[in-house]
Amino acid sequence: MRDLSGGPRVLLKRLRELMAEPLEPQERLDRIVRQIAGNMVAEVCSVYVLRADGVLELYATEGLNKEAVHLSQLKMGQGLVGTIAASAQPLNLSDAQSHPAFRYLPETGEEIYHSFLGVPILRTGRSLGVLVVQNKASRNYRDEELEALETTAMVLAEMIATGELKKITKPGLELDLTRAVTIDGDTYNEGIGLGYVVLHEPRIVVTNLLNEDSDKEIRRLAESMGSLRLSIDDMLSRRDVSMEGEHREVLETYRMFAHDQGWVRKLEEAIRNGLTAEAAVEKVQSDTKARMMRLTDPYLRERMHDFEDLANRLLRQLTGYSGRTTADGFPNDAIIFARAMGAAELLDYPRANVRGLVLEEGAVTSHVVIVARAMGIAVIGQAAGVVALAENGDAAIVDGDEGHVHLRPMQDLQRSYEEKVRFRARKQEQFRALRAVEPVTKDGKRIALQMNAGLLVDLPQLAESGAEGIGLFRTELQFMIASTMPKADEQETFYRNVLKQAAGRPVTFRTLDIGGDKVVPYFRGHEEENPALGWRAIRLSLDRPGLLRTQLRAMLKAAAGTELKIMVPMVTEVSELKAVRELLQKEVQHLSRFGHGLPRKLQFGAMLEVPALLWQLDELMEAADFVSVGSNDLFQFSMAVDRGNARVSDRFDTLGRPFLRILRDITRAGERNNTTVTLCGELAGKPISAMALLGIGFRSVSMSPASIGPVKAMLLGLDVSALSKLMDEALDDTHATESVRDILVRFASSHNIPL
Ligand code: PEP
Ligand code: MG
Repeated sequence: MRDLSGGPRVLLKRLRELMAEPLEPQERLDRIVRQIAGNMVAEVCSVYVLRADGVLELYATEGLNKEAVHLSQLKMGQGLVGTIAASAQPLNLSDAQSHPAFRYLPETGEEIYHSFLGVPILRTGRSLGVLVVQNKASRNYRDEELEALETTAMVLAEMIATGELKKITKPGLELDLTRAVTIDGDTYNEGIGLGYVVLHEPRIVVTNLLNEDSDKEIRRLAESMGSLRLSIDDMLSRRDVSMEGEHREVLETYRMFAHDQGWVRKLEEAIRNGLTAEAAVEKVQSDTKARMMRLTDPYLRERMHDFEDLANRLLRQLTGYSGRTTADGFPNDAIIFARAMGAAELLDYPRANVRGLVLEEGAVTSHVVIVARAMGIAVIGQAAGVVALAENGDAAIVDGDEGHVHLRPMQDLQRSYEEKVRFRARKQEQFRALRAVEPVTKDGKRIALQMNAGLLVDLPQLAESGAEGIGLFRTELQFMIASTMPKADEQETFYRNVLKQAAGRPVTFRTLDIGGDKVVPYFRGHEEENPALGWRAIRLSLDRPGLLRTQLRAMLKAAAGTELKIMVPMVTEVSELKAVRELLQKEVQHLSRFGHGLPRKLQFGAMLEVPALLWQLDELMEAADFVSVGSNDLFQFSMAVDRGNARVSDRFDTLGRPFLRILRDITRAGERNNTTVTLCGELAGKPISAMALLGIGFRSVSMSPASIGPVKAMLLGLDVSALSKLMDEALDDTHATESVRDILVRFASSHNIPL
């Protein structure tokens, strides 16, 4: 008989040969277990593979009864094998039967084997199966043997991941790798996206697992490790991160890991056992991840992400991987999966092909989410662990309405979502047909339908939605997605571009509305206990007049020869508005003194978001050329509910009597003073609330572009005079029992108005 022993290197060499041979998968597996058993001087070697139904099935064995193959099975967490798979940890036992988890499977005939060594078959920290060796004699396996078995398990992980075992999987069953999973997250943008996974940081697939020359591989590792350390030092010394803050903290942690001797030792050990440098990185990464996934401490879990990032960087160094090429192989319907990403990175993707974004982290206010919203794609955030579960090219559904991500969905689920998407597309078609129809109500009132925007990616929507202009341009978004403060000329170019793309339709620029939940990383104010009521928007602008004047000047220059509308956010007292107007006047004088062109027409307005202005309405309208109601903030401050706190934000109805009475007072003041009043908060975007707004006197509204169609469809069938009468009665009724919302629904249904 051939001597099969000879240490892990020999074993891996044999395995390499076996992998290269044109064998049927069962035959290959059988030979693999025979090799391992022989090499490790074990009487038994078995492979269990995890199926999609959570069962570990015996796929091959040397030593146990052959009849048990594809018959013996254990549930995840059951028996020694199930425990290993569930914990992703090895078990090394000299007397397996005495372990509390031991479970006797009579068909295998394993009762005569006392010692047991089992390791999880891991891929990106997930268990795909279990590899076991057993001996009759009671013995403890040495650390080297454990290490060798773990290394061997990588080869099996590769075999499972490539789908080779599909052929020998019982009909009707799937392996765990292809299991359908649903992950819950937070909704960051509504909508449904169907498509295929694109991992933002593609996992580098290491196909060259086994080395020919360990010393050479150790040298390669040392070189790449050296470059990695240098690149981190380089990042740390760059000026833009050398300030205090989280970014620096993360890099310091990277540096610590990159110099961690424990890590290097483990990598070298794996190489000595026969792996290539990149396979060693993958193995150690997978082991570490499996161990750390069970941690509950959020700080340590965060460090795990850092470690993973670093290991990925090292893999890129070793494989010479130089980044994603979007052109080749990018799906027509892409769902981007990322742990976190920058806004600019999202903009690098071919926009027309991106259907959804799934983030493990993020917040509604993160820049990438702001950009994704502007792009109109469905976004889910805080989807824990989703990246490790996905493979490039997997089918995926992002349900931004319900906050779910469905990975590798079952056919019936896929079909029902396809139906939903088709239904929406049909509706969109109907709305598109209304694009050229004048927004005039049934009783002849013309309504100004405008859209909200903030980035250049929004602009194409102007023509697509048929909006007559931009009623709110949130200029802070340009600042929020930049890594440094946009310079005067950058601001000017940006505004000029916006006006150019608006092609003559009016644009109302709002001056910087930062502070509160709108964080600009390079502009740190003080920690505030209550940022919504803090140093923000116009308050900050007035205290930093240089910033405001730069912005005003950029707008004036960009709009030379055309019309310009500017408005100021979060005004509390009319005097603030007057102070900004003075600064604006100074800028106008300055520019004309130096011979610059000026806007043909300049209008200056105020946003009404702070309740104090409700008792200054006439003064306000005298001081402003127009007024725009920011209903998101006005509602938040009027009802004392934090708009970003899901526990309270929906507590009171936006169509309740108190808030609608406030809004009616504002439109009445507008009529009295002959001042145009627009409403540009979320309230304008829902057909039912837009209908209420028209009923209390609004004739101008601004909303997200996707809402223009539905709102227009509503107003075309609306008799505003009839509704106004009804609304006045409803709001003046001090003993009402029916809610205004119900009254509105009834009105709409009896008048055939689509809501
Ligand atoms: C608002 O507050 O309603 C508004 C339109 O401004 P923002 O949502 O940007 O605060
Ligand atoms: Mg606001």
